Amino acid sequence: MESLKVHREQRKIIVTGGAGYIGSHTVVALARAGYHPIIVDDFSNSHPYVLEGISNVIGYTPDCYQINCRDLKDLNNIAKDHPDIQGLIHFAAYKLVGESVKEPIKYYENNIDSNINVTKFCLEQGIKSIVFSSSCTVYGEPDKFPVSEEFPIKTAESPYGRTKQIGEYFFEDCIKAGLPLNVISLRYFNPIGAEESSEIGELPLGVPNNLVPYITQTAIGIRETLTVFGDDYPTPDGTCVRDYIHVSDLAKAHTAALDKLIFESGDDSSLEYFNIGTGRGYSVLEIIRAFEKVSGKKLSHKIGKRREGDVPMIYADPSKAFKELGWRAEFNIEEALEHAWKWELKLRDLKLKKTG
Ligand code: UDP
Repeated sequence: MESLKVHREQRKIIVTGGAGYIGSHTVVALARAGYHPIIVDDFSNSHPYVLEGISNVIGYTPDCYQINCRDLKDLNNIAKDHPDIQGLIHFAAYKLVGESVKEPIKYYENNIDSNINVTKFCLEQGIKSIVFSSSCTVYGEPDKFPVSEEFPIKTAESPYGRTKQIGEYFFEDCIKAGLPLNVISLRYFNPIGAEESSEIGELPLGVPNNLVPYITQTAIGIRETLTVFGDDYPTPDGTCVRDYIHVSDLAKAHTAALDKLIFESGDDSSLEYFNIGTGRGYSVLEIIRAFEKVSGKKLSHKIGKRREGDVPMIYADPSKAFKELGWRAEFNIEEALEHAWKWELKLRDLKLKKTG
């Protein structure tokens, strides 16, 4: 492993959306692994504090460009400072499922344009290695479990999900056309938690959409009660089942993907897909119980109506990632929830002003 670290040394990797939730943890993972991450973020959904948090973990503030990925000229300007970029991880995208249903133009315009632009940028700069941030949402409602990469792509439940599918199809077409790219699309399951040190974590603006930040905000008194969206699903306890993965484990999957792209790709164009999950599903009620155990707090919750677009159950078969990337999740659900809770407590002390 140490020898690989030496090979990674000084290899510059652009991380679009690097100030976001998964992006910031990935910047930390890259730096720890010996890569040289460069953040590109328009800060539309992230807080400047993130840079301080990253610096507290890795000991320096990475280069950061406040740029919107839809601006190719701005992207190309980065290469003037850094003519030797070796790879790009593309996170920068809007991600709110509900909002995407109401504002499809905003989602298509931003997510698709950014995708095309970062690819043009890579082609113009001779950067071959791209990691694309995809989602298990591409599988729609699967009929078998666990879900492996060969499962069919099904109709997406939202414009957000569709932009992820289009992103994958876009890369597929680029590879078919023989463009000089090696792409890995990582299909994330449900990222949760925060850096173990509590220096960085999720910064949801406004009311959180996702389960775990809603739980931690309820436990700390920002929200009154958590509503469990439906308990009449065809699952063991009637609530939905998901594969929750610690965000730092997810971040490390990007380092593993880059290693494969940079050190193992041949001359041919390539595209590969990997599920990034733990392989285990937990119901909403199980998550509540696990949270109560690690936090020592009783969580106020009630059963409500189903949320539109939720699939009853999804969890990953992550064996391909282990076999081919040497990656697997290391934190368990209790650790992930404990780190999410520690981060919520830290946030209370930080009292960050809202942006965006
Ligand atoms: N969920 C819930 N109450 C909430 C938020 C989420 O019961 O306030 C449930 C949701 O129905 C789903 C699971 O928690 O079954 C995970 O939802 P999340 O939005 O975190 O991720 P998703 O799987 O939708 O991407």
